[in-house]
Amino acid sequence: MPGSEHRWPIAPWMTTGAVTRVLRALGALDGPNERVDARFVGGAVRNTVMGLPVGEIDLATPDIPAKVIDRLDSAGLKAVPTGLEHGTILALVDGETFEITTLRRDTACDGRHAAVEFTTDWHEDARRRDFTMNALSLRPDGVLFDDHGGVADARAGRVRFVGAPADRIQEDYLRILRLFRFYAWYGRAPLDAPTLAACRANVGGLGRLSGERIKQELAKLLLAPAPYGALALMADAGVLQQIVAGAGDLRAINRLVEFEQDERHREPDWLCRLAAILPPAADAGEIADCLRLSNADRERLAALTKVEPVLDEHADPLHLRRALHRLGAPLVSNRVLLAWSRAKDGEPAAPWRAMLAAAAAWVPKTFPVGGADVLALGVKSGPAVGRVLAAVEEWWIGAGFEPSRDGVLEHLKQRVELEEDQA
Ligand code: ATP
Ligand code: MG
Repeated sequence: MPGSEHRWPIAPWMTTGAVTRVLRALGALDGPNERVDARFVGGAVRNTVMGLPVGEIDLATPDIPAKVIDRLDSAGLKAVPTGLEHGTILALVDGETFEITTLRRDTACDGRHAAVEFTTDWHEDARRRDFTMNALSLRPDGVLFDDHGGVADARAGRVRFVGAPADRIQEDYLRILRLFRFYAWYGRAPLDAPTLAACRANVGGLGRLSGERIKQELAKLLLAPAPYGALALMADAGVLQQIVAGAGDLRAINRLVEFEQDERHREPDWLCRLAAILPPAADAGEIADCLRLSNADRERLAALTKVEPVLDEHADPLHLRRALHRLGAPLVSNRVLLAWSRAKDGEPAAPWRAMLAAAAAWVPKTFPVGGADVLALGVKSGPAVGRVLAAVEEWWIGAGFEPSRDGVLEHLKQRVELEEDQA
């Protein structure tokens, strides 16, 4: 069997208390004769090779899932069988989660789900993984196993399928999206032509994926520090249009990412970035349906993409204050960034920066009167109450939120009298 072994320095994440407890439970620290060959796999190994921080830690082991559960139980660790049919068990240790998967080979893939057979052969397990940089495994003693040239690829930022791209894509079309997601995060060398051609030839298969999975991948991709290059390749291959109707003009997201970085290093917001790749007349509700967004995300996407209020370089201070009061600062600053990223090239930055500064400095104001005050003045409950309140609130906004409760009550009284005169 091909493949190389490297000696790797033991990284601090490999020996934390929680990791040691899991390894001990799995039998990976037993004496040489009964030791189980459990190893770290997935993103933790890839990121270590690339010198990047390690997030969640995935492990794989030759033991079958029932045995893994047994071992975790005996060690007093909580086991959650989240994906038992694929051999995956979550171990909860000191508030951390570890995904433990039995070595497997995939048989009978239908384009998304594979029928799974367990194996004790690490080479078979490496072969079913998606990319060479994701097919590494690292033994707790620091021996790193690399069957497919993943170390060299990881170091060069080369995202490459294990095996023939078209075959691997047809087993599981999600891999098209994973390809561009990993490329967005880790790609430094260009994707090769046969890989891109295989994506283009198989875009139709994306229709088999659930909206939730597409959303998950898209959100992770959009949150990459600089997703523009990956998005451009996706658009080129016809992938982007397939998952986000009408997407393709990437000028705005390119500028948005740049502005986010310039303007006080704002945390990227994946929905705002999504809004930036939508065409101006996009139907946010339809996009939300396709991606199965949560109600909160659906509402936020709608609020980000609505035409009104127009916040552009001509917006006067009163208009901006009104928007801040009604929508809140986070939404307003995202809308300003979006509008700015769609503005003509070479426009002066100062008016946009001023709006962002106003949003950052915004202290929420509370309108000091309510329905009860209107009723107390003798207005019958009904639409007139809301109408009067809205008019008075508009006056209060126009007065710079300055009038106190007494001042607003005074104005309210006048307004009610006016309504009565008109009635
Ligand atoms: P992340 O940092 O996003 O967690 P990861 O590489 O750990 O990256 P996961 O989705 O957690 O990604 O998957 C763990 C590992 O399982 C991957 O590194 C890869 O080896 C394998 N894998 C996951 N999904 C697939 C898939 N659809 N096809 C093939 N292998 C996969
Ligand atoms: Mg992972």
